[in-house]
Amino acid sequence: MRVSYGQVAALRGLDFRVEGGEIVAVIGPNGAGKSTLADAVSGHRPYEGSVTYRGREVAETSASDLVAEGLIHCTETRDLFGYMSVADNLDLGAYRHRDDVEERREFVYDLFPTLEERAEQNARTMSGGEQQMLAIGRALMSDPDLLLLDEPTLGLAPVILEDISDGIEEIRDAGVTVVLCEQNVTFAMDHADRVYLLENGRFEREGTPDTLRGDEYIRDAYLGG
Ligand code: ATP
Repeated sequence: MRVSYGQVAALRGLDFRVEGGEIVAVIGPNGAGKSTLADAVSGHRPYEGSVTYRGREVAETSASDLVAEGLIHCTETRDLFGYMSVADNLDLGAYRHRDDVEERREFVYDLFPTLEERAEQNARTMSGGEQQMLAIGRALMSDPDLLLLDEPTLGLAPVILEDISDGIEEIRDAGVTVVLCEQNVTFAMDHADRVYLLENGRFEREGTPDTLRGDEYIRDAYLGG
């Protein structure tokens, strides 16, 4: 996969694979291309080369078909409807999948009880961490098979990070495949089965967290020595 913004090459030829049931993390600094990768994989950004989801070329599949087939992208900006309640935001996540809505809502409320407590509150008045939970909750209401999470921990206090952390493990236990684009390398390593290090549009390293923790460059540049 290659992606350019005009003359600027953002992704310079990536070979990227995710198997069902895995949590795969893409780590890298600001501007490395993580969001661009998530956008291309979810069909929101034109690319060169090939990106397939369950054997279908993403660029040739409509956004609504991708969502219907369980490819759900939770963007860095969260895209919440600020003047709507938490409950309504969640409900919108389920607009294509009306079966088992109650069950999924219960799963989300169990995962993040704050959302149930604040069900009637407007999304824009929730804290940053709560909004992140809501964005993930709404994505889960879409019944994802593959969930792309772009920077879910950005700007979150450690206590909220723990909630998101537990949430990701429960999402994995529910059988959802997760691609985690993260600047927080420690967080990504704690959850991922495999990790790709993206720098300047290229993968510089790839491997299990254990392997990468033993890599001198990763230790020095990303794990504080
Ligand atoms: P961050 O962690 O800061 O969000 P990122 O790893 O997600 O960074 P991207 O947002 O994918 O990185 O950006 C990759 C590169 O592409 C950057 O150099 C960025 O400036 C550039 N870029 C992203 N979007 C556009 C755009 N719409 N037009 C031009 N350049 C863009």
